[in-house]
Amino acid sequence: MRQITVLGATGSIGVSTLDVVARHPERFQVFALTAHRQLDKLREQCLQFHPRYAVLGDEALAAQLQQQLREHGLSTEVLAGEAGLVAVASHPDVDTVMAAIVGAAGLPSSFAAAQAGKRVLLANKETLVLAGKLFMDAVQASGAQLLPIDSEHNAIFQTLPRDYRNALVREHPRSHGIRRILLTASGGPFRDRDPATLHEVTPEQACAHPNWSMGRKISVDSATMMNKGLEVIEAHWLFSTPVELIDVVIHPQSIVHSMVEYLDGSILAQLGSPDMRTPIAYALDYPQRIEAGVSPLEFGKFGALNFYPPDLQRFPCLRLAFDALRAAGAMPAVLNAANEVAVDAFLSRRIRFTDIARLVETTLEHYQPAAPSDMESTLAVDTEARRQAMVQMKALAC
Ligand code: NAD
Ligand code: MG
Repeated sequence: MRQITVLGATGSIGVSTLDVVARHPERFQVFALTAHRQLDKLREQCLQFHPRYAVLGDEALAAQLQQQLREHGLSTEVLAGEAGLVAVASHPDVDTVMAAIVGAAGLPSSFAAAQAGKRVLLANKETLVLAGKLFMDAVQASGAQLLPIDSEHNAIFQTLPRDYRNALVREHPRSHGIRRILLTASGGPFRDRDPATLHEVTPEQACAHPNWSMGRKISVDSATMMNKGLEVIEAHWLFSTPVELIDVVIHPQSIVHSMVEYLDGSILAQLGSPDMRTPIAYALDYPQRIEAGVSPLEFGKFGALNFYPPDLQRFPCLRLAFDALRAAGAMPAVLNAANEVAVDAFLSRRIRFTDIARLVETTLEHYQPAAPSDMESTLAVDTEARRQAMVQMKALAC
């Protein structure tokens, strides 16, 4: 039985993970479930899965949940805050950790799982954007098994040569016959919208993704295409691939989840319904394939598949992410922090949709710290970049 910790259990990825887990009670046992503030949802999940531990964002919430679970006769122990997350991510009895917290808040716990040598199912792409080198070094040092959950990276993982896929230290992709990685992108809800009207879109419109149902932060990132920018950085670290070998292709139907092109001209792709339970199931029991509850793709129904290059004028966030990756050092971490501040401000209607890119760009211009060398200095860059983004928000009078 695999003992599984689900970090961010109440979110979109967390719920899909538990859906797959529940289909295979003979294979998986839930060791710990965590949430930030969603006490009621976490309680219901605890009542269904009987984890050994649960974690909530602060002591008061944790005490409340502890009391409620006792009343239901459950022996689950409830922990609080970051220390609780780190404890359940690195506990010796755990073998698999789903890292599905949103944003930089997920970094310490996903890093702890990597350091402890777990099978890490990484949904939290921000971990690699903030601390790609440190995280990959930790994976290598501990011998952790890193499996990507992001659908594009999971697709790439599936279509890479097996020796390259499973190597902890990789040679240049060209020496494995790989010409380039093609990351597909739906283009989000505003792919064809008149750019002159983008300043007036609402959080509700930005969160209404045409193909995927996701948390609010990643939905806004998909609408700005910052999500694809973060994914380019994620692919760079996950697959030891130089930025010039990573291309983005707009593919509105989200059926082809990404591709790898080889030197002989072959392109291998992974296809499927846009349902995160596919990559989750693939990673949960890798290398075995298990039932995920995903409806089969009906070729007769979806008609044409289209592909075309992205428009960097319409989607400045994608350009900013490519620039941050080329600049390297601390710049991807600054990009990520400024984006989190901007998305949060947009979701609470403090800035307009088009201000997100403006805010990220000016923060990148004004704050260019030295490359962080450890986790502490990475988190310090993140904190300062957030402060700078708040200053820029005032200066821009967004
Ligand atoms: P979500 O907003 O639906 O869920 C986030 C989860 O994290 C919740 O359980 C929440 O309680 C927890 N959380 C939020 N803030 C926290 C904090 N400060 N401390 C501890 N826990 C906190 O998000 P999601 O859509 O499930 O995305 C999770 C991660 O997976 C993100 O990094 C996202 O980019 C990535 N991802 C999601 C999808 C998708 O389809 N939803 C696809 C690919 C990658
Ligand atoms: Mg993705």
